[in-house]
Amino acid sequence: MRYISTRGQAPERDFTGVLLAGLAEDGGLYVPASWPHFGPDALRAMRGLPYPDLAATILQPFVGDCLSPDVLLRLCHEAYSGFGHPAICPLLQLDHDLWVQELFHGPTLAFKDMAMQLLGRLFDHVLGQSGQRVTIVGATSGDTGSAAIEACRDRANIDIVILHPRGRTSEVQRRQMTTVLSPNVTNIAVDGSFDDCQDLVKAMFADPTFRTEMRLSAVNSINWARVAAQIPYYIAAGLALGAPDRELSFAVPTGNFGNVLAAWAASKLGLPVARLVVGANRNDILARFLAANDMSARPVEPSLSPSMDIQVSSNFERLLFELLGRDAAATAATMTTFRATGTMPVPDDAWRQATTLFTGASLDDAATIAEMRHWHTRALYLADPHTAVGLAAARANIRPGTPMVTMATAAPAKFPDAVIEATGTRPPLPPRLADLYERPERMLHAPNELGEIQALVRAAARRN
Ligand SMILES: *Cc1c(COP(=O)(O)O)cnc(C)c1O
Repeated sequence: MRYISTRGQAPERDFTGVLLAGLAEDGGLYVPASWPHFGPDALRAMRGLPYPDLAATILQPFVGDCLSPDVLLRLCHEAYSGFGHPAICPLLQLDHDLWVQELFHGPTLAFKDMAMQLLGRLFDHVLGQSGQRVTIVGATSGDTGSAAIEACRDRANIDIVILHPRGRTSEVQRRQMTTVLSPNVTNIAVDGSFDDCQDLVKAMFADPTFRTEMRLSAVNSINWARVAAQIPYYIAAGLALGAPDRELSFAVPTGNFGNVLAAWAASKLGLPVARLVVGANRNDILARFLAANDMSARPVEPSLSPSMDIQVSSNFERLLFELLGRDAAATAATMTTFRATGTMPVPDDAWRQATTLFTGASLDDAATIAEMRHWHTRALYLADPHTAVGLAAARANIRPGTPMVTMATAAPAKFPDAVIEATGTRPPLPPRLADLYERPERMLHAPNELGEIQALVRAAARRN
């Protein structure tokens, strides 16, 4: 399997190359040169597989010759061995036609673990084989960072530096990052928004000297391997609910567009998907785009679902590339205009094509609290604020007879204040995190300034 950049000016790579590179040198994102496909018989044959085996089966065509099937299967088993539920991502029915798939039973209690636990092992394996080391640099609005740190901590060939917007993550999210005292882990609290942090990371990757010197690599959702590792749970939900012999829909609380892009990729692979509902909080650029082809960035506003406080959804570029008929020059020009003007000019026919599958919904904080209260009253179900956005988006788009699966992206215990406000119930932390509030923290502070951040990364990287 070969991968190409959405902007057409970076070298083609294989899976290992894309895994280690993250962002392409031309600022684009890697996508498969052609999409693999599983026919109905192949999908039916996957019914009943344990989750790690299903994941290895789905990922094999994306990995190609880079890993042998038995190594991939072993890494998948190891990746999901530390999850707190035997089904890995259990599917619960909440109502007629409405399910939740809980993606938060990994070590950091959010869906990022589903991909990151595998990614850390893939990195380790590949680097160990070639005797290389890398510096992983990432930006997080909360959950990516802790998931990446958990996946990379104490690994011999990896240093990891994570930027987060100072004061804009929940205390649980911050502590899950800053209480990891492993020598290869550095946290930097940046005076700025998540988008500022993401821009700093992109700028470091765009500096060829720095990138080479530090052997920079990324594990945020622009890394293709992460998107790929999120595809299997959509297939798992589909198989459980009757696919390929029945269509189903998904509602996905969305920030960087990585999770819902994986749902779209599952449909490219052959899963019969009726609708993909993009759930947004008050930072509703994607909902505005889907409703009226209005992709115009506004200032990021904090909300109860901080992992979705994003205006520039980097993974959207992968969908844009497809909507523009895989025209890399047009994709690059569109992204340049977006960067320069804050408005993305998407041709009307491309937008209309997107709306045949995607639809959007957005929720303010009051409606999010009301949704959490609704599910606690009706089903004694505790939803975190991100999941609640997904549930409301799902309810607004249910078609009788078509299963609608909401992705539950964080455990309620990660956002105790909102859960208490909505339901009067304090969600307990699982035993392995029970002393989180007593553990010592370690982090650096920095202004939103590239030079200062680069100096901190230089100091953190333990190069050979
Ligand atoms: C990261 C995250 C999201 C958004 O996922 P994207 O892939 O960025 O769209 C939603 N909910 C939670 C809890 C998250 O951690």
